[in-house]
This record gives sequence, C-alpha cells and structure tokens, in this order.
Amino acid sequence: MVVLPFRQIHLDFHTSPLIPDVAADFDPEDFARTLKDAFVNSVTVFAKCHHGMSYYDTKVGIKHPALKRDLLGEMVEACHRYGIRVPVYISVVWDNWAAEHHPEWRQVNREGKFIGAEPFQAGWKWLCLNTDYAGYVAAQTEEVVRNYEVDGVFFDIVMQWECYCEKCRRDMMAQGLNPENPEHARRFAQQVCERFMRRVNEIVKRYRPQASIYHNSRLRIGTSREAQFYTHQEIESLPTGGWGYLHFPFFARYVRTVWKEFLGMTARFHRSWADFGTLKTEAALSYECFHALALGGKCSVGDQLHPRGKLDKAVYELIGKVYRRVAELEEWCEGAEGVAEIAILTNADMEDGRMTESDEGATRMLMETHWQFDVIDRYADFNRYRALVVPDRFVPDPQTVRKLRAYLQKGGKLLFSHRAFVDAQGNFALADLAGFNLKGESSWDCEYLLVSKALADGVPDTTHVVNAPSMVVELRNAKSLATIGEPYFNRTWQHFTSHRHSPMAKVTRRPAIVQSADGRIVYFAHPLFRLYAQHGYLVYRQLVINALRLLVPDRLVETDAPSFAHVTLTRQNSRNRKARWMLHLLAYAPIRRTRTIDIVEEPIVLRDVSLQVRTGKRPQQVYLAPQRTPLPFEFSDGVTNLKVPEVNGYQLVVLEL
Ligand SMILES: [Zn+2]
Repeated sequence: MVVLPFRQIHLDFHTSPLIPDVAADFDPEDFARTLKDAFVNSVTVFAKCHHGMSYYDTKVGIKHPALKRDLLGEMVEACHRYGIRVPVYISVVWDNWAAEHHPEWRQVNREGKFIGAEPFQAGWKWLCLNTDYAGYVAAQTEEVVRNYEVDGVFFDIVMQWECYCEKCRRDMMAQGLNPENPEHARRFAQQVCERFMRRVNEIVKRYRPQASIYHNSRLRIGTSREAQFYTHQEIESLPTGGWGYLHFPFFARYVRTVWKEFLGMTARFHRSWADFGTLKTEAALSYECFHALALGGKCSVGDQLHPRGKLDKAVYELIGKVYRRVAELEEWCEGAEGVAEIAILTNADMEDGRMTESDEGATRMLMETHWQFDVIDRYADFNRYRALVVPDRFVPDPQTVRKLRAYLQKGGKLLFSHRAFVDAQGNFALADLAGFNLKGESSWDCEYLLVSKALADGVPDTTHVVNAPSMVVELRNAKSLATIGEPYFNRTWQHFTSHRHSPMAKVTRRPAIVQSADGRIVYFAHPLFRLYAQHGYLVYRQLVINALRLLVPDRLVETDAPSFAHVTLTRQNSRNRKARWMLHLLAYAPIRRTRTIDIVEEPIVLRDVSLQVRTGKRPQQVYLAPQRTPLPFEFSDGVTNLKVPEVNGYQLVVLEL
C-alpha cells in the first residue's frame, strides 16, 4: 500500500512554447532547499503540460523549445537529495501540440465539431483516448518512469466525453453498440478510459512497483467502482476557484470510505489555478489544510512555477507557516481514519456524479449540527452505519433495495424524503417495511407543516411553509409526526394574493412526516434537503435533526460548538500503542465578499467549548495537541465530558483510551 506524505505541493508548469526563457533561473539546490525550508515533503513536478511540452530529454514527445536543460531530471535528483518525494505529472487528454499536429486524434462531439478550444479561442483541446494518441501518452509514460526515479505518476485530465470521431463510431459498431444512443456512447467512453488507465498503470508498475498512481478529473460519486485503478485519491478542490467550501468535505467523506489514503488539494492562489500574482490568506490555507487532517486526509497545496524556474519566496513562507503546524500534528494523524456513525446515501451516481442540491442540503445540516458522518453510494457496505440519510431522490435498483432491506432487518435505521425509493413508474419500493405507501405528488405549489410534539423541540410553535408539493402518503401501519396545511390557492395570474405563496387556509390530516410502527424509519414527504440548500430555513434542519435523534438518540459526539464550527472525530488503532481518538475542532467562517468568492481573513476564537464523547470507557488521559496540555474530564455512563478552554481557528484534542 502507498502511504502518502502529509505536506505536498502540486507544482503546475503549463508553459507556452512562445515563452523564451524557460528554466533560465532554475537552480536545483535553491529549488529543493526552498521546499525543504517550507516543510514540504512531496512535490509533484512536470513531465508534460497541457501545451504538450515536455520538460525532460524526450525521444517520444516535444521538449519545450526554450528549455536548455533536463529540468525534470534535475528536480528529481535535487529533491531526493533533500528527502523530498517526487511524483511526476503527465497531462493526458489536454495536449495542444498533439491536437494541432494530429487533428485525427481529437475528441469530436455529436455535431462533428472538435471538443475544446475553438480555432480563435485561447484554451485546451481534447484528445481521444481511443486513437493512437493513447499510445503516444503510454510511450511518454514509459520513457519517464524508465529514465527517472519517480515516486509516482499523476495523470491529469483523464476524461473522455461521448466521442463521435470516426474511430469511436466504428469501434462502437464493432462491439454491437449503437453510436446514436448517448447512453451507449457514454458506456463506450468509460471503457476507453478504463482501457487507458489499465495500460499506463501496467507500465508504471513494471518499472516502479512502489510508485503511487493517480488519475485526475474523474472523481465523481460512483468512482468507487474504479478503485482498482488508483493507489489513493487526490481531491482537487480550490474553495475560491469555483469549487466552494462544501465540495471538499462532501467528497472527503465519500473518498475516505473507499481509499485509505487521500489528499485534500487546494492551492496558494487567491482564486484558481495559474492566478499569478496572488496569495490566499494564512487563515484560509490553514483552514483548508486542517480540514483535510480533520477528515482523515493529508495536504496538497497547488502552486505554479514561474517559467524562469524560480519558486516565489513569499509563497513558500506562507506554505511553510501552515506546513510547520501540520508537521507538529502528524503523530496524531498518521494512519488515522475518519469515524462516522451515520451516512448520507446519495443518488448522485445516477445523475452526473456531482453533489446534488439535496446532497448539499443534507451535508450542510449534518455538518452544522456536528454529526459524524460519511457520504456513500449504493455500492457501499450499509452495515457500517447506525442510520442512513437518503435525501429526496434515490433510484431503487433491485440490488440496492435488497441490500437495504437486509440492513433494516438487522436493526439499521433510515431517514429519507420525497421521491427516494420511488421508481420511474411511481412505485414505492419499501411500502411493506415502512407501513405506508406513496401515491404521487400533491397538486399544491406550497404547503404548511403542522408539527407534533415528537418533533417540536426547538421549532417555533407556528405553521411553517414548504415551497414544494409533497408526496401523498397513504398510512397503513405507521404514525404521523406532522400533518399538512393547505393554502388558499396556487399562485397563478388568476389567483394570487400579496407578494408570494398564499397563506394557509385549511388544516388536513395528510401526513407530512411519518415514522414506521417499529420506529426504525422516518420519512419526510417534502424535498426538505433541497429546500434547505436553496433557502437555508433553519426549521427544516431542526426537523431533520429531531427526527434523526429519534433514530439515534445516543450519538457519538455532542457539543455546544457554534454551527459554523466543524467538530470531527478520527481514530488511530495501532498494535504497539493504545487506541486513541482525536477530536478536531475548526473555527473559521468563510464570508461572501464578492459575487462568487468566499473569503477567510482570520481564524475565530471560541472559548469553553463543551464536548460529550461516547468513548464507552474511561480514557487514560485527555490532552490538547500538539501542546500536550492535559485536559480535565469526567466520565459517566460511557460518556467522556470535557471542556476545551480555547480554539483559535483549530485545536486538536486527544483521548487516549
Ligand atoms: Zn474518439
């Protein structure tokens, strides 16, 4: 198994062939020294970039015309002298030199146009991995891993769209697929990618059996099915570069259920990649790196080397400040795994694999209320969790429904909403177990919730609007926890009142929230998770959490930390050491200060944060790390109670059991 270093740099180097002075100022000693001084212990450097330029002495590809030295070779050698690991980067589907010289290698869309940058547009052109281009990349890979002592290979942009080039159409037909059917084209593109990954992985393993192998740009919900092709995961997620601050925790909670080793990859840039002349704040970089540790991952910071080959001192001062702190925390993070008692079961693999709005709502609700949770797809082992949360939609394929039934029969708990487990024909797959059936959607554009005592904790005592139709619930052997109030009328040009939806006109007996007779299943008839992502109405979160507490009354961690703080649990189990639990407390609050970018300017100081941790037994000691300050605690009924005097952005608390 590959064990990754904690403090990595992903050093971009996409350098146009028009730039005349490549590596003119490169000094291998200064390069490696700068990294070492910034506490970096792994750097991913470039063999070939998106321009298609190679940065080593190549007989296969095109060496950058202005490069007068073997930059890759010198980087590898210098870094190894300083004990820094060096994986290499190979751009796969984006290679503008190859695209311009071999148009027959390009990906073609349904209209017969080349995919990617148009003739008069700056940008990248997409190459088809079903053409001889794949052989070109394989030969480059072989040249690099044979000639250089590389510690890993990072293949970037391993992405094949549905391609309709002559060769793809011909090969689809030969396999009995119909190129006109987009689903067949998608399936074929997936096969092409898998064939490519298998081919280059074999080459890397032949020459460098210990090397790490990563294929970037493929991480989606559902990628768990490709686990065999990766030694680890790297979650490319630049919070200010379009990914936002929720993408990383969502995918980290997914990835960690499949891959033991993973990186959170952010960047030093203010916005996104190649934002030359910018730095993010120390608080933002700290937050992003500590968040990776807090979820059981390791850190990678993206940078781009100036064409002249000199690392920017200010960049490495910033990274050094954060990585020095990461280094101090590592003994509590090595081999640590994330602990989760519940999971969000997402339907995203049946859509485009990205976080859906419903997933987003569920993730926010559980993070804001400090639940310990994973994100899983339908291929996961459900039995690892005390409860599953299934937000709004889930295509009930027969295999998953069988697995879910077995899980529920063994005592598993389920909270789901709206159309989850309802198939395209409108059949609800769990009617017998749940004790109710679902009969399509109501005709209202808004409805009101009348909440019973069982869910009323913390919910203001009034009716609460939901701006979406509910599923109509037919109760058999289940109890209603909330009922629906109906408005005067839907808002149309003929019937409307005031500025928005009309007020409630009448109370009905129709159930809005239902619990099965055995208590193990709770159902919400409205898509509350999507609506929480859209509107942020806290009552929706409170109702879901109240329902979840009915299912899991004795949760692992309770805290009075504020909703913007993160509280996560990791665990180290070592043969030669006592097991220990680590509580990570993060207090940073990204604030939207432009139309699209959230800024973290400073850490937030929290005082006297109370925590109740269900450790089961009395810890031998509890202390703050890395300070090693002992922390007083009390233990009763399986729960360890403690109070953290101060959290200045980030604080680790260790419980030795
Ligand atoms: Zn093609």
